[in-house]
Amino acid sequence: MLDTNTDGVDQRVSTGDLPSWERIDERVLEAYERNVTDEQGLVADYIPELAAADPSQFGVCIADVEGSTHVAGDAEVEFTVQSISKAFVYALVCQEFGHTEVGRLVGVNNTGLAFNSVIAVELNDGHPMNPMVNAGAIATTALMPGATLAEKWENIRTGLSAFAGRQLSMDGEVYRSEAETNTRNEAIAKLLKSYGRIAGDSSGIVDIYTRQCSLRVSARDLAIMGATLADGGVNPVTKQRVISPIVCRDTLAVLATSGLYERSGEWMFEIGLPGKSGVSGGIVTVAPGKGALGTFSPRLDSAGNSVRGQKATAFLSRSLGLNIFASDSEGDRHDV
Ligand code: GLU
Repeated sequence: MLDTNTDGVDQRVSTGDLPSWERIDERVLEAYERNVTDEQGLVADYIPELAAADPSQFGVCIADVEGSTHVAGDAEVEFTVQSISKAFVYALVCQEFGHTEVGRLVGVNNTGLAFNSVIAVELNDGHPMNPMVNAGAIATTALMPGATLAEKWENIRTGLSAFAGRQLSMDGEVYRSEAETNTRNEAIAKLLKSYGRIAGDSSGIVDIYTRQCSLRVSARDLAIMGATLADGGVNPVTKQRVISPIVCRDTLAVLATSGLYERSGEWMFEIGLPGKSGVSGGIVTVAPGKGALGTFSPRLDSAGNSVRGQKATAFLSRSLGLNIFASDSEGDRHDV
């Protein structure tokens, strides 16, 4: 990794403010209404239990760094967090091991290949490449503190609950359904082990990874979890410090490069914010220093990203002036 040591340099953070409460409420409702009739995309079915999702469900929530939430639609409906867990487990592991070590062990570069690619591991000499693809996520879960697998799992569940500000519980049906069918993740873990990239019981690590993916969250939970990353690591509702500001910065940088599967470039171009999606239809999107969006809608594009979630987030990014690359404080000038 590039050596960019700036120890002793006065580091500054520059952000703008969100618009007024009323305007956010209006825009969240508008993001919902504009997209609720969109029926593009397909519900994931490679995990059998996910195919049972109700495709009509659609929820949008914004949480700001003061702890206020603005919701529309099915923002309280629970679904399994799936890949979005990768972002928060990564943050917890970075908190423990630090920027340089996790960067070296797991990596931060996009693979350009599908999230569950085996060939990406082979092409990179067994390096998992980044924590948002399954190989990197499994390697990250393996690094989670805990003397036993049970302790690692408890630390993940407690850590993700601290981000959400409430006790999260696992969906047993989805967990069992994925555990019975995830031979591909088993293969990835064994391949990583053959390269010496993970230590210990690779099947046990995959089991914990499957459990973390099966934790139940709502769009509101995702918004609060994201707002904790936007707020320098302090949950804006419970006021609990979960991680440090530096770990937030590092986590958001990884989401920016690889949060939306192999569409991460298009996402950054259209939306201009770090985000993470999951195959059950959730997306969390973070506006650093301002707040975060949580969306839920199970119909996905071919890369695995919620169609209505992407559209609602694009609308909100533009209409609330959230794009981190836009220098006009009135928001960018796209036709929304
Ligand atoms: N548990 C899923 C898997 O590992 C998560 C996939 C995702 O949301 O991208 O295949």
